[in-house]
Amino acid sequence: MNGLNYDGFDNIHLIGIEGLEKSLITKLLERAAFFNSQKRNKKNEILKDYLVINLFFENSTRTKASFEIAAKSMSADILNIPVSTSSIKKGETLIDTASTLNAMHPDFLILRHPNSGAAEMLSKHVQCSIINAGDGRHEHPTQALLDAAVIKEKKGKLEGLKIAICGDILNSRVARSNIHLLITMGAIVNVIAPPTLMPVGIEKMGVNVFHDLNLGLKSADIIMILRLQNERMIGSETPSKREYYDLFGINEENIRLANKDVFIMHPGPMNRGVEIDSLLADNNERSLISAQVEMGVSVRMACLEMLKLSRDKIYK
Ligand code: ASP
Repeated sequence: MNGLNYDGFDNIHLIGIEGLEKSLITKLLERAAFFNSQKRNKKNEILKDYLVINLFFENSTRTKASFEIAAKSMSADILNIPVSTSSIKKGETLIDTASTLNAMHPDFLILRHPNSGAAEMLSKHVQCSIINAGDGRHEHPTQALLDAAVIKEKKGKLEGLKIAICGDILNSRVARSNIHLLITMGAIVNVIAPPTLMPVGIEKMGVNVFHDLNLGLKSADIIMILRLQNERMIGSETPSKREYYDLFGINEENIRLANKDVFIMHPGPMNRGVEIDSLLADNNERSLISAQVEMGVSVRMACLEMLKLSRDKIYK
């Protein structure tokens, strides 16, 4: 860690990718690649005597586990709050829950919440660092960082690559964070979805909009596939799952429209046979899905370390 600094970043929270400088993202990706190269055989003491709390109001397998493994790899103490058996079920508000936890002096609160803006709102009420682990349709910054770190590892760069993001863009915080990051880093981004699952005005983010899968996949270097996020849908934004697969499902056949060395990615959880063909999901030559999960731990270590350095400047 000697000499490591994130000059110009003086925030103690990580709420989103929007507004982060290219140089900061580059440093985080380099640091994540370093942690990834060490695998888990090198536990460090970067967060010794620091307390991390996981507070997840929505289900999670990958994100929650990888924050826990990241914190433990850095020698932090970690507490998982089981929301379903906590006082939240008795009607306690998010701010009251967070204030209660804050009074136990954690250093980091990792928050996942169904409401867009929840992480930002909480960051104004607590002294600990908030890391947004997904807030509604808004942002999921560590997912975009880990996706970028994997792309960089496989392709050597982000600038100039064509990334096709396909699926339920409307309800996806993963898409939003990835678009902010990829555009900042100089990639070309195609977004592909039926009109009902495409946010109005999304082209203002600098992306190319497609409602025809075949056109959107053309000469892509990476295809990011998104789940239909039914839990955030209001009405019937999609036809039947079968019709959706016929029009927007990604398979061995239609990836031929992309570059011949295209990789596919998925943030998980996957719905096989809905947005992705099962055979393609298991095709290790094409799929980066396991690499994404592995990189998730390393990216979260890099983020925790960056915020620890900011905290140390202010509090120690
Ligand atoms: N795991 C990702 C998220 O929390 C993607 C998904 O749920 O489809 O946003």
